[in-house]
Amino acid sequence: MFFIWGPQSGVRDLGVVAELCPQCAYVMPCRVFGKVEGAHIFFIPVASGVTEVAAICSHCQKRFRCDINRYKAMLSEFDAFSLTVDELLDQTNPSLKARIEWSRKCEELGDDPRFTQTLRSVDELRPGLLMTRLSKELRRWDQLDEAQRANLTRESSELARAMKFALSISTQVPENAGCAIGFLICLAVWGAAFVVPASISKSNGFVLGAALAGPLLGSVVYQFIVSHQVRQWTREVLVPEGRKSGISFQHFVSLLEDLSPARTRSADVLDPLKEYGQTIREELATLEVSIDRHNSESSS
Ligand SMILES: [Zn+2]
Repeated sequence: MFFIWGPQSGVRDLGVVAELCPQCAYVMPCRVFGKVEGAHIFFIPVASGVTEVAAICSHCQKRFRCDINRYKAMLSEFDAFSLTVDELLDQTNPSLKARIEWSRKCEELGDDPRFTQTLRSVDELRPGLLMTRLSKELRRWDQLDEAQRANLTRESSELARAMKFALSISTQVPENAGCAIGFLICLAVWGAAFVVPASISKSNGFVLGAALAGPLLGSVVYQFIVSHQVRQWTREVLVPEGRKSGISFQHFVSLLEDLSPARTRSADVLDPLKEYGQTIREELATLEVSIDRHNSESSS
């Protein structure tokens, strides 16, 4: 039967990249193929997209899945095989080259306990601006002087300790405080609307206004109660527990600033801290003087 329009699929050769083959563990030129699915009109492709990508290693000929978004470019066979593997890495997969250089440096500096301790501390952080900055400095370890290395080790270690504390305290944030009261206030506003004299309730927009006023007032009261509870929890639980753990509150605040906002339905243990991070930071800022004084007294 002849179809003038219909789905069209096939396999397309996307080019050659340098890749670390998971089968033979060599970095080799690998040919990348994509499964293409689209549509045709009179056998002329009109829309297509790559749905699955795999590469074939030129050394062991085994096939493995890969991610085309990681490649800077994909070269023709002729261009790729006229380059050395190192040049091909530069042109097609520079992030892999950076990872390889970094693991070589880690091996070279593996005997330096301060470097390995700093590396471990940085690894304990979450991806973000702090981790990026510390990782960049760590990559320059052999160019840093003694004071810079000591500062980097100290900062990474304080942040790692603050991260451990954040993971342990996050589940204790009073998240649901005020929820029931906010709901009751919403119901109370709606209830009150029924006892308003008919002369007012029949006026234009009254029903809509009352319907919106309930959730709005309930939400304002809920936010007020939650904020109050979180501030109280910060003073009565977070600060004493933080002092017991010996964390630096300055680094803990930096960590809160660095955490990405909580996403709905994510199962991250740090979600409560992310959600109320701003309130906690504000409360810690008001307590800053007494915290600093306490820390300096403890250390003296
Ligand atoms: Zn291979």
